Amino acid sequence: MVVGGDAAGLSAASKCKREDPDREVVVYEKGSWVSYAHCGTPYFVKGEVDELTDLLSLSPAEVDERGIELCRNHEVLDVDTEARTVSVAGPDGEFEQPYGDLLVATGAHALTSPVDGTDLVGVHTLHGLDAAAGIRAHLLDPDTDHLADVGGEAFVDRERVERYGAMDPPETVAIVGGGYVGIEMAEAFSTHQCDVHLFQRGAHVLPPFGEAVAERVEAELREQGVRLHLETEVAELTGGEGRVEHLVCTGGTELDTELALVGVGIHPNTELVANEPVETGPGGAIVVDDHGWTGVERVYAAGDCATMEHAVTGEQDWVPLGLTANRAGRAIGSTVAGDPEPVGTIAGTGVLKAFDCEAGRTGIIDPDRAREAGFDPVSETVTAGSRSGYYPGGSATGVTLVADWDSGLLLGGSIVGTDRAAIRVDILATAIEQGATVGELERTDLAYAPPFSPVWDPVLVAAKVLRGSIEEG
Ligand code: FAD
Repeated sequence: MVVGGDAAGLSAASKCKREDPDREVVVYEKGSWVSYAHCGTPYFVKGEVDELTDLLSLSPAEVDERGIELCRNHEVLDVDTEARTVSVAGPDGEFEQPYGDLLVATGAHALTSPVDGTDLVGVHTLHGLDAAAGIRAHLLDPDTDHLADVGGEAFVDRERVERYGAMDPPETVAIVGGGYVGIEMAEAFSTHQCDVHLFQRGAHVLPPFGEAVAERVEAELREQGVRLHLETEVAELTGGEGRVEHLVCTGGTELDTELALVGVGIHPNTELVANEPVETGPGGAIVVDDHGWTGVERVYAAGDCATMEHAVTGEQDWVPLGLTANRAGRAIGSTVAGDPEPVGTIAGTGVLKAFDCEAGRTGIIDPDRAREAGFDPVSETVTAGSRSGYYPGGSATGVTLVADWDSGLLLGGSIVGTDRAAIRVDILATAIEQGATVGELERTDLAYAPPFSPVWDPVLVAAKVLRGSIEEG
């Protein structure tokens, strides 16, 4: 039995059914949507993706064809791991259901705390397709056929789309939080001609990417007309007649706004097992072993609600991302079907597009975090061309590498630029997962041809410079 019908849950269900077709596989999903891509929602709001249903990997009918019993609009309220039962609330009422093996794949929810006033109409978070449909409806002219615009009624929250569709599009938008969601949505709102203000509590946006990336992304945001308010903490959203009208910061900054997007992080959905002997760890996520097992007989967890082992520290960590959820779910599906497969490790590899700029990060970049993990970090940042200098289309690419001084072990890195910069981070992620040193990275046989890279790829240039620093002591 699987709780949660998205990336982790349906990957597990599909794999298990494929490996063991005679097994009964039931998926309970509390919402209407299943197998959807959160990751595409900023691009749906922007208008680059036409219809919400384009963001589905599998339709309910396709899930059904795989022989999976899919129960949408069924919320699992409680788990009893001793009796091996779950309580479910469905459209026809509540019932108890026994399970053989249980996968908790409940994902996470968007946080709004510590901002007050987030229940006002016009204040959005972006987590799920209904949220995306609501924001897009809010951005378009009231004359639009909003239900048709989101791709027909499908499973969408009709009431939300109609409520926001009836409102005038906002002129000024406030984004609270300069993380992935805030930055991607700044681009989406700008495309709709909004005057976009982005508030970030810390000194820089995108803290996990490090300062070198943040400075370049901030320059791009400003260049594109986004008004950045750094070191500015939003305290409260206020309004009249239940609608947001105003934003107030702790330091006194104020802004009139008709739409606020709060992107201040997410928290894993673990309430289901809160009273069970299941351990929670980093970020409040469920701690699992290398096969996604919680330590409670026949109970597994995967995706945004679970931890994973970090490839650099070997410690449990929580970095909720798409591939992690899909891969862990698939591995658990295989394990439960009788073919044990490890869920793998994570390096926290992430990529992001901010208008014409792109960035990637992996491993451990923050020196304090590296020291906590027992390393003595040393770091270098270089800027190098993305293609041979004489070949058109190249751009300056910034690479930061972090290594351990004693061993030369590569700990982390980030890349920023405009010409295929983000995807270059996969070189670093691979090196980190393989436990490479900076010297080994420098000697890696990367591809070279003028349209793609210079002879010395920016990653190799950075490795060369960092190895030099380590050797000079
Ligand atoms: P979810 O996808 O959240 O699915 C969990 C499901 O469980 C939900 O459908 C929920 O309704 C259901 N559920 C919860 N509780 C219950 C219950 N009690 N009973 C029944 N059902 C329940 N990751 C990337 O790697 N790259 C990206 O570019 C990227 N972009 C993103 C952009 C946005 C706006 C967001 C929000 C996320 C993004 N992510 C990205 C993260 C990625 O989408 C998640 O890591 C991934 O979806 C996690 O999958 P999951 O199955 O663990 O959780």
